[in-house]
Amino acid sequence: MIVPPLKTLKEYPRFITPTFESFDPVELTKETEKIVTRPRPDGLERKYEDFYATGVYGGIATGYCVGCCLRCVFCWVSWGRDFPEKFGNFYSPEEAFKQLRAAAHKYKVNKLRISGAEPTFGKEHLLGLLEHVEQSEFPIFILETNGIPFGIDKDYVKRVSKFTKPHIRVSLKAGTPEAFTKKTGANPEAFEIPFQAIRNLLDYGVSFQVAAMSADSRIMTPNERASLVKKLAEIDPRLVLSLEEEVMDGYDTTLARLKLSGLKVKWPLRRVYTPIRELFNKESRE
Ligand code: SF4
Repeated sequence: MIVPPLKTLKEYPRFITPTFESFDPVELTKETEKIVTRPRPDGLERKYEDFYATGVYGGIATGYCVGCCLRCVFCWVSWGRDFPEKFGNFYSPEEAFKQLRAAAHKYKVNKLRISGAEPTFGKEHLLGLLEHVEQSEFPIFILETNGIPFGIDKDYVKRVSKFTKPHIRVSLKAGTPEAFTKKTGANPEAFEIPFQAIRNLLDYGVSFQVAAMSADSRIMTPNERASLVKKLAEIDPRLVLSLEEEVMDGYDTTLARLKLSGLKVKWPLRRVYTPIRELFNKESRE
């Protein structure tokens, strides 16, 4: 794939405003990695805000990280996304694993994940953490990503594929380049990158699923949704049947970012699209 040309960021983007200038998420990845990672003799450190356990996925220990390369208007994560220099502490791969293990034991869960902002920042940190997970008693490690780092670095996906425990959840933000820029702040040229991540994951046989903020009629038109589905179907029709469609939730951070962006969104949500996989199931029954 063609990676969009690097442009120097004029200033570090925090959140979308009515007059924001779109940015290059590849460049923002590099800038943010300088903030949230730090070399150390025993492995690359990465910043996390917290380690805890939550009830999603049937109970899972979670490392909550800071720093992202997108600025989604509907983003619910903490202000560590926007101001990564002000939030979080550095942990080596071993320290992060010990924190995850302690949270899992404390709350009696056996799954692990990194969530929060963009968990794939700090390639050597994550790969080091996966080494610890691989040798542990935990059967699964879930990684939730926007697909930018895995879309621009196929070698990263290849190295993740050597492990048996990771399951990747790629979260797509938009169905067209224009909507991608409007909702994430990133250049329209970067719209293709998460789809390339999906191709890379397929090529290396990594366990993954695709999610999209596509069930919410307030932030996705039917045409945009159709475009998203078409793109997935062109890669592999099975991706459409397993697509996990989400709606925007009204977290404080989400409401604040929507307000800052000037985007008018009505609450409560009145129209949720019928999930595509349900439509297919219905048709196949008829
Ligand atoms: S929703 Fe995810 S990808 Fe978008 S800004 Fe928030 S953390 Fe980053």
